[in-house]
Parts: sequence; C-alpha cells; structure tokens
Amino acid sequence: MGSQGASGSEDCPFCQIANNQTDAEILLSDHELLCFRDIKPSATHHYLVVPRTHINNCKTLQGDDIPLGERMEKMGRSILEKNKVSNLNDVR
Ligand SMILES: [Zn+2]
Repeated sequence: MGSQGASGSEDCPFCQIANNQTDAEILLSDHELLCFRDIKPSATHHYLVVPRTHINNCKTLQGDDIPLGERMEKMGRSILEKNKVSNLNDVR
C-alpha cells in the first residue's frame, strides 16, 4: 500500500549516477565503488565516493561495513593522487 519502494533507491541521486542515468562524470569505479566530482564543488577538488549498493542511512552501517569505508577512503585518496593534489587544504 505504501507509495515508496522498500529501498527508495529509484529517487536516490547516487544510485542514478551508479546506473549512468545522469551526466555525472565518473572518475574512477570498480565492482563496488564509484567516484565522481561533486555537482556543486565547494573546493577545487571535491569528490564523492559512494558504494554501488544503496545505503539508506549511515546509521544502518555496522561494524562489518568498516572495511567498505576504508576502501572508500582509499579510492578518494587515489583520485587525489591521480590529479596530483598535494594541497590537502583544498580538498573535500
Ligand atoms: Zn542510492
């Protein structure tokens, strides 16, 4: 009866990017994660790393998800290295 799907991922901008339904330029991706430039950058280097799997809310994450978070951070760092960013004060 509810008007919303269980996952709510159809309206999720990150899932739309993951499914190539937007103009967002995907800078890096693998089977699990993707990295793209923020639509409204608030720093010269403002990138987002998201998992392909829809996550409703960071509060639903558990201890098991820590390695995923670490891989997300690693991808974020590798995009900075790829862009030869050394000034980490202008990074988000
Ligand atoms: Zn999503």
